[in-house]
Amino acid sequence: MQIAVIGAGIVGASTALDLLKDGHQVTIIEPECPGGRQAASYGNSGWLSPASIIPMSMPGLWKKVPGYLADPSGPLAIRWRYLAHLAPWLVHFMRAGSTAAKVERTASILSTLLRDAPSRHAAVAEKIGRPDLICRKGLIYAYPDRAAFEAEAFAWRLRRENGVVYRELSATELHAREPHLSSRYSFAALVEDGGHCVDPGGYVMAMIEYAIRQGATRVHARAIGFDLAGERLLGVLTDAGTVACDKAVIAAGIHSKSLAAKAGDRIPLQSERGYHVVIPTDQFQADMPLMPSDGKMGNNPTLAGLRIAGQVELASVSAAPNWARADILLKHARTTYPAVTDSAVDSGIDRWMGHRPSTADGLPVIGFASASRDILHAFGHGHVGLATGPVSGQLVADLIAGRDCAFDISVLSAGRFRA
Ligand SMILES: Cc1cc2nc3c(=O)[nH]c(=O)nc-3n(C[C@H](O)[C@H](O)[C@H](O)COP(=O)(O)OP(=O)(O)OC[C@H]3O[C@@H](n4cnc5c(N)ncnc54)[C@H](O)[C@@H]3O)c2cc1C
Repeated sequence: MQIAVIGAGIVGASTALDLLKDGHQVTIIEPECPGGRQAASYGNSGWLSPASIIPMSMPGLWKKVPGYLADPSGPLAIRWRYLAHLAPWLVHFMRAGSTAAKVERTASILSTLLRDAPSRHAAVAEKIGRPDLICRKGLIYAYPDRAAFEAEAFAWRLRRENGVVYRELSATELHAREPHLSSRYSFAALVEDGGHCVDPGGYVMAMIEYAIRQGATRVHARAIGFDLAGERLLGVLTDAGTVACDKAVIAAGIHSKSLAAKAGDRIPLQSERGYHVVIPTDQFQADMPLMPSDGKMGNNPTLAGLRIAGQVELASVSAAPNWARADILLKHARTTYPAVTDSAVDSGIDRWMGHRPSTADGLPVIGFASASRDILHAFGHGHVGLATGPVSGQLVADLIAGRDCAFDISVLSAGRFRA
């Protein structure tokens, strides 16, 4: 079949590779550089963690909303002027985590998607000839002490129940693994199966280049809709003309919402804006990917230097970045690693802001569109899109081939939002 993949982030790139493996003719529609700065896939923390199963929305979240509105520098901030626009998504988001049972369900579904993320990525990186981009030396969740770890007992119990394997590290073991870490951290959980990507944007670019070497076509255009004859897809409409195809996959990250609407599905999709800073390698480099419990940012040793990524800001896609939030990440870096000095922080820092494509219930949308089974959704991966890109590509290819998926993906269908 002729299949158009709309968007060349990690989800579109993964989907293209799986479709090529099945022998389809693939056209990748992407207006910008694949894996470029416009994409969430460029600037994320690079974590491939089977433990990233805890949703953002938890019981009692609503009580914290006034604080999020009042404190623009907190780990989750809501910009006042966008509150009316955000309200329907926020209500849905808070309801999705209003009971422990709902959180347990979401965690269980995410664990199915995340379970073998590091090995899937290692296989992709090997296949495209860049095995150096995926490292598998584990991920550290660091705490000031055991009491701080136990304060998150619910999350770690959920992880255990969902098969996430971790090992507790004493202060000595922790500092042996990450000698640069401040002595204020004396306890950690090590997820040994976890992996990380040392250049997420370069990785996506390498996947697309490989896809092109395998025969995929690249169209530099922005998809704007679909040419349908009844339920049959004739092509994807773009700002540079129509791309004829038998099937199309919507994998345009945060920009998927309007395309999904044109395919018959209204999806509560919102940008959870996040930030990163990169301290260049010649200034400082850490040994291990590590998440300090008091900042909740992913620290990742990348090829360019130490990347510190995190923060959640609810505003709009077009709102200007608030770079003060990137500076909060730098401040945390100074308390996490004493060797990060003010002079390191002053020179050559890269600051970035991007859009996590987040559904209100914390799960991606994967499946057929309502208007036509020739159009498939593959977006809404929120906080875990890098890790779950390859499994998403596989699921889309299975659906198109009419193969049974490895697990029941009806829970990911667009139809869940119609109820
Ligand atoms: C600060 C931060 C930290 C994160 N950390 C992690 C992490 O550690 N691990 C993890 O798994 N996930 C993480 N994430 C989430 C992850 O980055 C995203 O879920 C994932 O990158 C989404 O991939 P995507 O392919 O759906 O979208 P994107 O990467 O945004 O790609 C979408 C592509 O579609 C293109 N496009 C847009 N509109 C159109 C159109 N109309 N036609 C054609 N193309 C179009 C865009 O140009 C873009 O290239 C993080 C995100 C952020 C912001």
